[in-house]
Amino acid sequence: MRLVSVAVPVPFLDPLTYSVPESFPRLPPVGARVRVPVGKRAVVGCVVGHDAALGADTTARDIVALLDDEPYLPPAVVELCGWVADYYMAGFGDAIAAAMPPGSRRDDASKTQRIVAATAHGLETVRLKPDTTTFPRPGDTLTPKQRDVMEMLANAAPGLPTSVLRDRGVTADVIRRLAARGLVAIRDERDERDPFERAGMAVTRDAERRLTAEQEAALNTLAGLADSGGFKVALLHGVTGSGKTELYLRLAERICAAGRQALLMVPEIALTPSVSALFRSAFGARVAIQHSALSDGERHDQWQRIRRGDVDVVIGTRSAVFAPLMNPGLVIVDEEHDSSYKQEESPRYHGRDVAIVRARTAGALVVLGSATPSMESYQNAATGKYVLVTLERRVLDRPLAAVSLVNMREEYAEDGPDVVISRPLAAAIQQRLDRREQVLVLLNRRGYATAVFCRQCGDTFECPNCAVSLTVHRSRGGWRGRCHYCNYSLDVPKTCRKCAAPYLEHAGFGTEKIEQQVRERFPQARVARVDRDSVRRKGSLTSLLSRFAAGELDVLVGTQMIAKGHDFPLVTLVGVISADVGLGLADFRAAERTFQLLTQVAGRAGRGEQTGEAIVQTLYPGHYSIQLACRQDYSGFFEKEIAYRRGMRYPPMVALVNTVVRGRRFDEAMRAASEIVRRLEPAARRASFLILGPAPAPLGRLRGEHRVQFFLKGTKRADMRAALKDVLSAMPDVRRHVTVDVDPLNVL
Ligand code: ADP
Ligand code: ZN
Repeated sequence: MRLVSVAVPVPFLDPLTYSVPESFPRLPPVGARVRVPVGKRAVVGCVVGHDAALGADTTARDIVALLDDEPYLPPAVVELCGWVADYYMAGFGDAIAAAMPPGSRRDDASKTQRIVAATAHGLETVRLKPDTTTFPRPGDTLTPKQRDVMEMLANAAPGLPTSVLRDRGVTADVIRRLAARGLVAIRDERDERDPFERAGMAVTRDAERRLTAEQEAALNTLAGLADSGGFKVALLHGVTGSGKTELYLRLAERICAAGRQALLMVPEIALTPSVSALFRSAFGARVAIQHSALSDGERHDQWQRIRRGDVDVVIGTRSAVFAPLMNPGLVIVDEEHDSSYKQEESPRYHGRDVAIVRARTAGALVVLGSATPSMESYQNAATGKYVLVTLERRVLDRPLAAVSLVNMREEYAEDGPDVVISRPLAAAIQQRLDRREQVLVLLNRRGYATAVFCRQCGDTFECPNCAVSLTVHRSRGGWRGRCHYCNYSLDVPKTCRKCAAPYLEHAGFGTEKIEQQVRERFPQARVARVDRDSVRRKGSLTSLLSRFAAGELDVLVGTQMIAKGHDFPLVTLVGVISADVGLGLADFRAAERTFQLLTQVAGRAGRGEQTGEAIVQTLYPGHYSIQLACRQDYSGFFEKEIAYRRGMRYPPMVALVNTVVRGRRFDEAMRAASEIVRRLEPAARRASFLILGPAPAPLGRLRGEHRVQFFLKGTKRADMRAALKDVLSAMPDVRRHVTVDVDPLNVL
């Protein structure tokens, strides 16, 4: 009997054993996709083992179909998925799903795709009448659904694959009707569109450029590590603007010349289109990009190019760690401290940590780059586990931005409690506008206001599903309250729902209000806002950033999105509206996050010829994270923070596992959590780890469910995982309501 184990896309499930029917000429290889029965369904799974130890399992069901003769996922990637599933306590199938390109579960994914594009007549109809559904020709009207499709297509010139339209809820019928009226055209394509062209960033490599002495020394060290051909991890700690990207490029060239491939991971690729443009200008077509802002079709094409070996360099976000490269010799994780490397759904992996595991198997060099390394990575460098390489200065001896603090208590005392933009910041903005320089204004909070309340009866607007108040957003002609966790929303009425008084008031402020204030106070300035709400539409972020880079905008107001990695040489002022946004959270990483964000955003100023300045508004000017960020004193911060972590026994001194139990009722969740904890206790004593909790989670209710959490804390993750796995697998009904997060970043 020939048996294989197959990972199937069912949460928490270990691989299942199937038998290979006699009629199949040979065993499907590890990494091949197969269609198998699970319960009453047939699903596409991935072969993950031919284990002789599976024995003669006569209950095994037959494989229905073999989709690939050759491995679809390289065996090294399958192995990596196994590690991810085990380490992060996810199902093998969850991990495999993370590694598969979109569309891989369909048998026809590699064939042609059907593209729908607006015709000239179709375009004219949407553009002529931007806000009606009426055509210039009488009798020619569009339904709202048809109008949506036309708008999507008008914004995607070469058209969109039907798979993408389907994902956006467009039915085949709608498209047929539009086609019948000549508003759209449908074509079949074996199409490898080029996502680079869309990025529209003109960055070319300056091949003549001479490295600074510091860069030269760093490159020599890194190249030495790379040439040794084995697994190593280097932490490249380089201040903002020290020219890390140039080093990545040169190292990648070296690795590729030696016949291996390079993987460059970035936190959010849409934020750094210039990086891909730069690599593209150095490596030509042998670069692929992988990230979720690409359409499914594009992502699939790029994936296939990598799989075929047509690519030397892959640039992508966290999921690119699973890219099907056959022989990676260099894995770079840029801005390694960035929390977007952590996936907040199963498998809850950290892209940086998985990158290290991948490199270990491949015998590759890992370069972790950051101006503000995570506590974890810097500690590993301090203890000699990683090689530390430092760039202490900006290129061409440009000075770091001078940072000054504005104590907002004093501003309130002078100007009243409603001040949002302090006098020093306003004066500095005006000065930059006069000099035709550019300004970034950061507030790490979306929306217009953080809450609405009635001044008469105190009624507030809370989310019915989550334990948070609704954030107020501006909407056409009024205000809309929206939950940032579940997206519930309602129109904020003009009068109180409880007492009918017309005294509803906003509390707090977010980026929308800052944008409005900047526009009001500086009417001559060209202002735009960058946050998750303003860049919903695909491509709009890239286009905003390119307009800013091209000098078509003066002031960019935004959330942490504007703090990340950009290189805008005309920015000479960064204003931080409130440095305190993250400090109040019940999270032991609050100080680290604040330090990183302030240092990074200050690092956006003065990257060109003019020196830069940052002005930081705060209520806690004495807080160490704010003080040390002002001085851009990373090592001072690290020393202070590591002492705190050591004292409190927090990561990186220990490992944490966060377990959240969800329930329709609070007592249900509490009871289940207590039972898990009770069953864990013997193992905790044996393996000496601590169990903290159970207790209501800080975010006590989310999407209609109550949340109770407990932490395991200890130095041996393997023991904690094994114990939890044992207990949970004996409680399958509870398991479905449990989220386990190993090495959690978000503990709320
Ligand atoms: P980092 O990623 O370390 O913040 P970048 O790689 O973005 O810094 O480099 C900052 C700026 O300096 C970029 O505009 C880059 O083109 C430029 N640069 C890098 N190396 C050199 C060099 N050796 N000489 C001149 N300019 C450089
Ligand atoms: Zn909600």
